[in-house]
Amino acid sequence: MQFKSARSYAPLSIVAALLAMALKFGAYFLTKSVGLFSDAAESPVNLITALFALWALTLAAKPPDTSYAFGQSKAEYFASGLEGALILVAGIAIAFEASQRLFHPQPLEQIGLGLGLSVVATVINGGVGLILQRAGRRLRSITLRADAQHLFTDVFVSLGVLLGVLLVKFTGFLVLDPAIALIVATYIFWTGVRLLHETGAGLLDMALPEAEQQIIADILADYEKNGILFHALRTRVAGSRQFVSFHILVPGDWTVQSGHQLCEEIELRIIKALPGTNVVTHLEPLSDPISWADRDLDRIT
Ligand SMILES: [Zn+2]
Repeated sequence: MQFKSARSYAPLSIVAALLAMALKFGAYFLTKSVGLFSDAAESPVNLITALFALWALTLAAKPPDTSYAFGQSKAEYFASGLEGALILVAGIAIAFEASQRLFHPQPLEQIGLGLGLSVVATVINGGVGLILQRAGRRLRSITLRADAQHLFTDVFVSLGVLLGVLLVKFTGFLVLDPAIALIVATYIFWTGVRLLHETGAGLLDMALPEAEQQIIADILADYEKNGILFHALRTRVAGSRQFVSFHILVPGDWTVQSGHQLCEEIELRIIKALPGTNVVTHLEPLSDPISWADRDLDRIT
């Protein structure tokens, strides 16, 4: 299954959330286990974030208009910020609960059938998470990647519970259960931090990744061989869109026609190499000192 837009994947995440919710509440009602109740009680959060992701991806997919001339692709950061914050909180909550159990070990409940249903929910979450992660990377959607991370969080929590139950059963060491939960909590906490960091970088207009900047540099190098110069290269990522601008310096006696033709050619090459990129260039005469006065990045022109 491969959709063209990130938004098409959002319903998948909503369906997965509904299924997981039904399974987890089912598991709780069958067993009345406290552990499974907290798992079930947390599951509506998935539904809320999946709906939020759908809204963010709908905004991000809108074409530019007069009110938002650069599009609304940054809406994706609303969803990734929410997911990151919730993942972080989940990490802290799990660590807190696990440390309580570390100092006051509790005998595990018998949750046989409930555990089985929880495993089914875990498989659904894991499968959908993998689909979303792959699509998120392919379509450069931080919302889909964040949603996938959230689902993986649930998977790791469930696997941790399962592993804890099995280890305690075979070794008899009650502390193994909270110890594993603490490891899972640490991993989840860092996932949340990483996601929030990436969200912040996107909101602050971080430059394109080095590999993509190199692609631009390689294209420009082709023209530099012929005496054309470039400066004031500025790049930024805005969700799945990218923005690039720079100055092109050519001999002052060129005609407007040939100067513009060169601009068009270079812009097109960059757009072809980096799809989804908006390129703006500014043409300047090589010999004019004014052309060089605006080369530094701290001078916004
Ligand atoms: Zn300049």
